[in-house]
Amino acid sequence: MDTMTTSRPAAPLTRPVGAPPAFHLLAKPTGAICNLDCAYCFFLDKEALYPGSKFRMSDDVLEQYIRQLIESHQTDSVNIAWQGGEPTLMGLDFFRRTMTLVEKYRRPGMNTLHTMQTNGTLLDDEWAAFFKEHGFLIGISIDGPQPLHDVYRVDKGGKPTFDKVMRGLRLLQKHGVEYNILTTVNRVNGDYPLEVYRFLRDEARTDWMQFIPVVERINADGLTLYQEGGTVSERSVLPEQFGRFLSAIFDEWVRHDVGRIYVQTFEATLRNWLGMGASGMCVFNETCGAGLAIEHNGDLYSCDHFVEPDYFLGNIREHHMIELVAAPRQIKFGLDKRDTLPRYCLQCDVRFACHGECPKNRFSATPDGEPGLNYLCAGLKTFFQHVDFPMKLMVGLLRRGHEAREVMAVLERAFAGVQRNDPCPCGSGRKLKQCHARAQPSPGISRLPSPQARSAADRTEWAARE
Ligand code: SF4
Ligand code: SF4
Repeated sequence: MDTMTTSRPAAPLTRPVGAPPAFHLLAKPTGAICNLDCAYCFFLDKEALYPGSKFRMSDDVLEQYIRQLIESHQTDSVNIAWQGGEPTLMGLDFFRRTMTLVEKYRRPGMNTLHTMQTNGTLLDDEWAAFFKEHGFLIGISIDGPQPLHDVYRVDKGGKPTFDKVMRGLRLLQKHGVEYNILTTVNRVNGDYPLEVYRFLRDEARTDWMQFIPVVERINADGLTLYQEGGTVSERSVLPEQFGRFLSAIFDEWVRHDVGRIYVQTFEATLRNWLGMGASGMCVFNETCGAGLAIEHNGDLYSCDHFVEPDYFLGNIREHHMIELVAAPRQIKFGLDKRDTLPRYCLQCDVRFACHGECPKNRFSATPDGEPGLNYLCAGLKTFFQHVDFPMKLMVGLLRRGHEAREVMAVLERAFAGVQRNDPCPCGSGRKLKQCHARAQPSPGISRLPSPQARSAADRTEWAARE
């Protein structure tokens, strides 16, 4: 796939049938290369896809990427999104050249939104000033307070990274850069929902967070390179654990933080309860396929989670990007999310909110043995059923012209004076103590051993304790 050509595919004179007016493309200028060695990173293994590659996007590919991305969009705004590996390894000059190219190709009146997902460890004042100058939105990856973050997010020497990440975050805050936080939910921090949430809200001081479940499939040889195999690594979050994690954070959020803290999963859930059609998260939409990934050499893939040979669409040095995005196999990729749901999902009472989540996680079997059920199903179902009552309250408020945040006062009144053995006000028929006041298992962060004191082997053993 590392093809060599200097030709420049011209924009097609007629737009391919089915081409979307806009789409999302994650660019990986360093491919899989990162300065850290996070134990669960699915992308580090992808280095094997390009043996011998230097893993640096060339200026030629960069220019074609920017030009074709802009040409492909029929909207007034285009998102230029960088991810990795670690994109800051490209150096600041690469992104300065990007800004020059954007100005060269941008249509008059067209807005460009620049985003970057980074581990934050290589940031300095110069980076932060650049981000501020060009209005970048930066996503920083933090897995919670130090003992939780440092379990898996370590550098190449196995050393903890929390302090470096927080230094990067504080630099962004100092320069007034817009940022949000991405937290992966794994087997360890999955037991500490409130510690994670309160840390992100109160200490990392973010008002926008997203929680991504770690689901690392392994095959019979123990490899995680491609989406294959029916078991998961010991680092992967357990299905019920993920449901408890989201539910516990939701309960805190819906009583205290609606309207001031944005949690991506909750926002998407509310949109689906409102029947808006697009949740804002591909995993909770009926179909997908409009979120692709481009490698350092111009290879385009169906999705960031499917950077593997079976989902290779072509290279932008040989085919114009919009032809690849509109290719029948890419459209089928997106429709398959809906069309391959097992019967169990089709009959599920929360399918309108879940839609079977991401196809990459559909490697379990339904209770009657049909393949294709999402590994996270039990937790997703728990979560969506748990939030039904407050979601309906918020929908009612919004439809009557009120604000969603008014739900906090409504809930306070609904739960006032209700004893633990009384029926839960949500109408589930269960006692309050078995429903919305159920104690969330949270072992207490003080139980975590100091990350500095743990070797890599200790970490694995500790994480596999369940
Ligand atoms: S495969 Fe999963 S992550 Fe990729 S676009 Fe579809 S739902 Fe989203
Ligand atoms: S909760 Fe489970 S059964 Fe329901 S749609 Fe989601 S994956 Fe399917």
